[in-house]
Amino acid sequence: MRLMKVAPRENGSPLKARSWIVGVDLGGTKILAGLGDTEGNIRAELKVATRAEEGPERVVGRIAQTVCELLQHTGVKEKEIGAMVVGAPGPLDPSSGIVYQPPNLPGWDSFPLKERLSGYFPDFPVMIDNDANLAALGEYRFGYQQVFDNLLFMTVGTGIGGGIILDGRIHHGACGAAGEFGHMVILPEDGPLCGCGNHGCLETLASGTAIAREARDMVRAGKGALLWELAGRDMERLTAEVVGEAARKGDEAASEIIARAGYYLGIGLANLVNIFNPAAIVIGGGVVSGLGELLLVPAREEMKRRAMKLQGEKVQVLRGKLGTRAGLLGCFALAAQKYPTTPNLCQSVAEIKEGF
Ligand SMILES: [Zn+2]
Repeated sequence: MRLMKVAPRENGSPLKARSWIVGVDLGGTKILAGLGDTEGNIRAELKVATRAEEGPERVVGRIAQTVCELLQHTGVKEKEIGAMVVGAPGPLDPSSGIVYQPPNLPGWDSFPLKERLSGYFPDFPVMIDNDANLAALGEYRFGYQQVFDNLLFMTVGTGIGGGIILDGRIHHGACGAAGEFGHMVILPEDGPLCGCGNHGCLETLASGTAIAREARDMVRAGKGALLWELAGRDMERLTAEVVGEAARKGDEAASEIIARAGYYLGIGLANLVNIFNPAAIVIGGGVVSGLGELLLVPAREEMKRRAMKLQGEKVQVLRGKLGTRAGLLGCFALAAQKYPTTPNLCQSVAEIKEGF
């Protein structure tokens, strides 16, 4: 466990009760917990390994322990916490707080996450939402400062996820599972098999996993010599990042792989643009951080080509501004919507955010 920078407690200004928000971004490999306020100022944060293989009860215990350490290190008392918001991998039901079999959390079968955490922390309300929804809300509120009231967020990493912000609020759908952009079917007949059981979902064509798979296929076919060299002649190390590196060095095979992923991504974006008429689609996630415009230029081009004229000309396709903290900041944004009067008390430590 590693404690990130923590600002000294403000001198001479005792914290008022119910001022702080605990945010937790629960992922398949890491738990990022932060203490902050409804203005998105992070006072302190801790990152620990999820160790998902140990099962849900142990993971919940680890979340609780991490939050307690965060409070200890900052000197904040439980009675000073206004709310706790947890972003977890879906599918989940935000109202009941039950998590249903997320692919990256084995053994979480209808697990009552909200109830279990409330058991550890009975003194403040616990809210649960989908991690991609919270990342969407974080980018909407703190990344783009509420400029776009109708915004879609897409995360392109190992898989592809999404969140829908309509009129400034998360759109959850009938059972809390809206925004699965990665499972838009793009190539139904001969597309690769997806984890969801369909063929040719966007995730199988434009995610980091898809890009790496294409690169391996190309190397096996005797092409992509530079890809093979950059991966240290090891198929396991042939990642989307390596493909990006090869493309920047002028490797044609790598450029072709990324352009094709961008093309499919653009088809997905055009579908979203026609359905939602968003002002902006913000794209985050590890693959976009690594490949950047290499992926987004062909994606924008294909989107413009396919989207209906009015919506296609209106929409902006932008990169996320919050990086790996989008989900955590989304926790504070959700608390701000639920508790709009919670005062901002850590303005004085806002500058430490830049230093992380
Ligand atoms: Zn799928």
